[in-house]
Amino acid sequence: MKIVQEEFRVSTKSRNQMIDITSQVRSFVSQSGISNGDVIVYCPHTTAAITINENADPSVPHDILLTLEELLPHHRPGYRHSEGNSDAHCKSSLIGCSEQILIKDKSLNLGTWQGIFFCEFDGPRSRKVIVQIRGE
Ligand code: ZN
Repeated sequence: MKIVQEEFRVSTKSRNQMIDITSQVRSFVSQSGISNGDVIVYCPHTTAAITINENADPSVPHDILLTLEELLPHHRPGYRHSEGNSDAHCKSSLIGCSEQILIKDKSLNLGTWQGIFFCEFDGPRSRKVIVQIRGE
């Protein structure tokens, strides 16, 4: 089994934002020479996340962010964390910091409407995404 690890940066533009990173992940997979296996997309941050959802209609990421904002407002009585970004930490843990996607015949085995998103919850910032491809 071969393992390849790559990383790239994402520049976010607003406090809450979902950025489609499917094409970057797809190009690392095609450069890896691995035909069948899997890829882990991971972000090493406590106020950001990685998720898979619909990337055809931009209303979908908009509505996800709107829902998260309603569930976890920026300011809330009872938050103790002095940085003032407790909502972002909660969103990061709720969504999770990685996704695993299968690779079949040199391609990401995603559904027709699925894309991989980097989720910013405390931007704008420069962020890192780590991609690990495993297989043969
Ligand atoms: Zn914090």
